[in-house]
Amino acid sequence: MTEPIYKRVVLKLSGEALAGDKGHGIDIGMVTKISNEVKKLQQLGVEIAIVVGGGNFWRGRSTEDMDRATSDYMGMLGTVINALALQDSLEKIDVITRVQTAIEMRQIAEPYIRRRAIRHLEKGRVVIFAAGSGNPYFSTDTAAALRAAEIEAEVILLAKKGVDGVYDSDPYINSSAKKFNTLRYIDILNMGLGIMDSTATSLCMDNRIPLIIFGIDKPNNIVDVVLGKKIGTYVKEE
Ligand code: UDP
Repeated sequence: MTEPIYKRVVLKLSGEALAGDKGHGIDIGMVTKISNEVKKLQQLGVEIAIVVGGGNFWRGRSTEDMDRATSDYMGMLGTVINALALQDSLEKIDVITRVQTAIEMRQIAEPYIRRRAIRHLEKGRVVIFAAGSGNPYFSTDTAAALRAAEIEAEVILLAKKGVDGVYDSDPYINSSAKKFNTLRYIDILNMGLGIMDSTATSLCMDNRIPLIIFGIDKPNNIVDVVLGKKIGTYVKEE
């Protein structure tokens, strides 16, 4: 397994993944580790678009004492901080990147333009999508599904911190929790598995975008998953 099985991928990095063991804010060591893996993927000729989460700073649903839309916009701004940290880290190791934001902030990033994003990918640049979908009431998982559909990515790689796939119950609470090797989108919806919200799952289901949910803690997992190694949980139609 030395050849990548995908040509174009969307890598979804949750905010937690960038926070490392600190659980909050940014762990530069962790960002560097992820960047090194992204570089390896790029050297294999894989086109990589990254959608960053923002839960390490703020989630819209963190409080009920605020207007929800305002709170969600705060969450989206958190993803931009993460995107810039990732960009800096990737460019330090000579990976050319472009950040595109779903909310315009021209002084620091390009606005999201689909055709331009595709052009960057074709030129081998890593595109980092920030500010989610630009709309409150959505998640960055939904943004990942949306962008994957738009740029015709073959798969979404959902890199998670602290878990290595999808389980039928919380493995931290239930020691006999069973890990799924494969799942259908509908199973996630029917079983109410918390791995992805229903909007994101439905979007993947309707557009038949396969998902691989895997742990980011194990070194080289991002590369291994693209080389076709059976890690994590594979979600598709059948
Ligand atoms: N968010 C939003 N619209 C989007 C994407 C994100 O309003 O299209 C907000 C929402 O408040 C969310 C926060 O940004 O809670 C951070 O994103 P998310 O929770 O998906 O980050 P992750 O869990 O992946 O770190």
